[in-house]
Amino acid sequence: MKKLCIDPGHGLGNVRGNVYDPGAISAGVSEADIVLQYALAIRWLAKERGHDVFLTRDDANDITPVGNRNELAQGAGCQVFISLHCNSGVVAANGTETYFRDAEDKALAQKINTAVVNALQFRDRGVKSERESQHSRLAVLDFRGPACLLELGFISNQANREKLLLRSSRLAVGNAILDVVEKL
Ligand SMILES: [Zn+2]
Repeated sequence: MKKLCIDPGHGLGNVRGNVYDPGAISAGVSEADIVLQYALAIRWLAKERGHDVFLTRDDANDITPVGNRNELAQGAGCQVFISLHCNSGVVAANGTETYFRDAEDKALAQKINTAVVNALQFRDRGVKSERESQHSRLAVLDFRGPACLLELGFISNQANREKLLLRSSRLAVGNAILDVVEKL
């Protein structure tokens, strides 16, 4: 399997020095915590399959500025980069979507998005260019090689949030992502 980097979005030092960036927060649940749990599950599942997965942070105390994450992954010899996030919006907004930068990334984004939609049974919001994101340019997509940013679901939507918090969802998403990466 190609060496995979999973980047659990946000966390300590993400946007500013020693400040903890929780990402979106809803009903006492933070995006940074949710995506860290998914990243740890993916690393564990990969190990069961005999693969090492690199994480840009593996606890809440890892200082990882967003601008360094793709370089960290490249330094660790990673060939594929997937950043994990959760969306937030109006209460009714829900579903999974994935951002990409160029044509090479779009193919990966499409495969990952379809696999995760099937795993979570969330609404398929499709794949989108980073220009359609609220940031217009996503620093983690500077990675040299296939990269995408996956928005698992909306933590501001009760049904999405409750399902995202289930261990069974972490395992389903983790296996779905690894199935895709194993075939790249
Ligand atoms: Zn985020």
